[in-house]
Amino acid sequence: MRRHDIFFTPGPSELYFTVDHHIKNALAMKIASISHRSNEFQEIYKHTSEQLKNLLSLPEGFKIFFLSSATEVWERTAQNLIKDSSLHIVNGAFSKKSYDAALKSGVKNAQMIESEWGAFPNLDSANVEFEPEVINVVYNETSTGVKADMESVYAMKNKYADSLLMVDVVSAAPVIDLDYNIVDSIYFSVQKCFGLPSGLGVWIVNEKCLARGKEIELTGTHVSAYHSLSSMEKQAENYQTPETPNMLGIYLLGRIAQDMNEKSLDLISNETKYKNIIISNAIKASKCLELSVRSEKLRSDTVIVTDIIDEVVFGDLSDELKKRKLVVGSGYGQQKGKQIRIANFPTHSKEHAMMLSDIIEKY
Ligand SMILES: *Cc1c(COP(=O)(O)O)cnc(C)c1O
Repeated sequence: MRRHDIFFTPGPSELYFTVDHHIKNALAMKIASISHRSNEFQEIYKHTSEQLKNLLSLPEGFKIFFLSSATEVWERTAQNLIKDSSLHIVNGAFSKKSYDAALKSGVKNAQMIESEWGAFPNLDSANVEFEPEVINVVYNETSTGVKADMESVYAMKNKYADSLLMVDVVSAAPVIDLDYNIVDSIYFSVQKCFGLPSGLGVWIVNEKCLARGKEIELTGTHVSAYHSLSSMEKQAENYQTPETPNMLGIYLLGRIAQDMNEKSLDLISNETKYKNIIISNAIKASKCLELSVRSEKLRSDTVIVTDIIDEVVFGDLSDELKKRKLVVGSGYGQQKGKQIRIANFPTHSKEHAMMLSDIIEKY
C-alpha cells in the first residue's frame, strides 16, 4: 500500500502524529455524546486548560477561553475591548484581516502601521494619530513567513500605558517566546502548529482585559454577544462554555498539549530550529527557490516562505514533490504562483524535513 500525502502546508497541515490515537480513544469514550454540562466535560476542560497553561508557561491570572477560530477573536476583540481606537501592525494578509475586522465591527479609529510583505514595519518612526486601546500584532505572519520584532512592539506598547497588547500566535504557538509582563492576550486556532482538525480557537487574556471588557459592557454601547468576555469568564469558573462547544476539539487539544509537555517545549523548539536550518539550507542550494524574507532576524521558525526564481526548474521540482507525495503550500493571495510556503510544525519530524530537503536541493 502506498502511503498518503504528507502535508507541509501552513494550515490546515499534517495532523500531530498522536491525533489518530486520541481520536480513537475519544470515540471509545463517547466524548462527542456526553453533555457539555456534565462533570466529565468539566474534567476535560480543566485538563486542557491546565496542560495549555503549563505548555505556554502562562502566569497566574491569565484565563483561557474556547471560541471557534482566530477570526472570531478579531471580532470579539472589537466588541469587548475597544471603545474607539485600535492599532494594527500590518505586514501581510492575516495582520491586515485584523484591521479589516475592527473596521467592519465599527471601530471608529482603527489605524494601521503597514510595511511591504516580507518585512516588518518600523514602529519608532510610525505616526499614530489616536491613542490605541488595543494594539494587535501577528507573531508569525503566515502569508509572508515574517516573525515579528517583538522588542520594537514592546517599546511601542510602553508608550501607551492604557493599551492592551494582543499577539496573534496562530502559526507559531507553542513555539513562542513572549514577555507576559507586557503581553495582555494571545490567541490561536488549532489547525496550524498544534496539528489538529480546524474549528477551535483559543483566546487567552489577563485580568486587565477582563476588567476592560466589564468597563465597556457597562457603557451599554456595544452588542452583548454569547462570547462576551464576561459570559465566558463566568462559565469558565465552572469549566464550562456559554454554548455547546467543540468538545472533541477541546479534548484533543488537551491531549496534544499533554503530549507536547511530556516531550518538553525545549526539545520541540530545538527541533524546530534544527529542521528550519535543514530546509533553509536546501532552499539556498536550490536553483529555483530563494528565501523571501531578506532579514535573517525576521525569518519565522515555523513557516518558511520562498520566491520562485526559475519557473521551468520549479515545474520539475513540483512534479517530483507530487510523485513523492509531499505537499507544500502555495504563495498566499497576491503571491500565488510566485512563492511557496513550507510549514515546519511540531508534527513534522526530522525525517520529514530531510525527505523534503533532499529533493529541494537537487532542483
Ligand atoms: C490561519 C491564521 C489565522 C486565521 O485562522 P482561522 O482559524 O481561519 O480563523 C489568523 N492569523 C494567522 C497568523 C493565521 O496563520
